Amino acid sequence: MNTLINADLHCHSVVSDGTLTPEALAQRAKANGVELWALTDHDELGGQDRAIAAAREAGLPYLTGTEVSVTFAGITVHIVGLGMDHTHPALLDGLRATRGGREQRAREMSDDLARVGIKGVYEGALKYVGNPELISRSHFARYLVEIGVSKDTNEVFRKYITEGKPGFVPHRWATLADAVGWITQSGGVAVIAHPGRYKLTPNEEFALFTEFKAHGGQGVEVMTGAHGQADYAKYAGYCQEFGLAASRGSDFHSPEESHTDLGQLPDLPGSVTPVWELLQSRILQ
Ligand code: AMP
Ligand code: MN
Ligand code: MN
Ligand code: MN
Repeated sequence: MNTLINADLHCHSVVSDGTLTPEALAQRAKANGVELWALTDHDELGGQDRAIAAAREAGLPYLTGTEVSVTFAGITVHIVGLGMDHTHPALLDGLRATRGGREQRAREMSDDLARVGIKGVYEGALKYVGNPELISRSHFARYLVEIGVSKDTNEVFRKYITEGKPGFVPHRWATLADAVGWITQSGGVAVIAHPGRYKLTPNEEFALFTEFKAHGGQGVEVMTGAHGQADYAKYAGYCQEFGLAASRGSDFHSPEESHTDLGQLPDLPGSVTPVWELLQSRILQ
């Protein structure tokens, strides 16, 4: 397969914190020229059957996907899984456990916002939730924009619901070892999502990549909506240094909120091995 195909291996539907259905995403990906697609809802596989069917309908090659929330060095990092058997019991159990604390966390976030005078946010956010097991900070952000607390969701994430700001509730997600283990045991490839977004020291970042490799992780997102030119070069270099394949995914959530649409990223640099070369046998046509 040509290295420079228009692969988009990271996006979200209403099954997590996106605003489009799996069917609408498949059609949008196809219309935007995507040649290999994966839906990667947070801690969920509930949209996979719909995505598989919609991709087949659109004539769009597809890889199963998810994005697992992980706690590493005291912060949240995301590990994308691609090409898993999405009916694998250990994977399903692990993701269910990872989703488990979200309801309680959401109630505590709402209580903390009430302390600064912003009331009823849990109930308000629920209007935006497509999957009762997956209440996310994105749903809170949409409601805070609706009631005029902030002008857009980016501003919400600057002023609220992040570390040190009103509405933030620390949470313990999966371990790195478990997340990589669930993905690889179920036949998939684990990928470090958007590494340029994490507030890690150089030593912590080195530890993340080293431990991820040791657990069996095989890829890193080089091209993602969250990266700029400097990140592209830096993480292409990490592919060589750590012996990792490179992934490419917009992290598209919503036509109104996402600045990178499906299929709109630059190509991977020529120096890296695309992650889809490791996943040829897992592609659904
Ligand atoms: P949660 O998994 O509930 O902690 O929510 C995390 C989600 O919030 C991410 O997947 C993003 O969709 C969104 N998010 C986090 N930080 C930001 C940010 N700075 N701007 C916009 N969206 C963000
Ligand atoms: Mn998200
Ligand atoms: Mn993410
Ligand atoms: Mn994502």
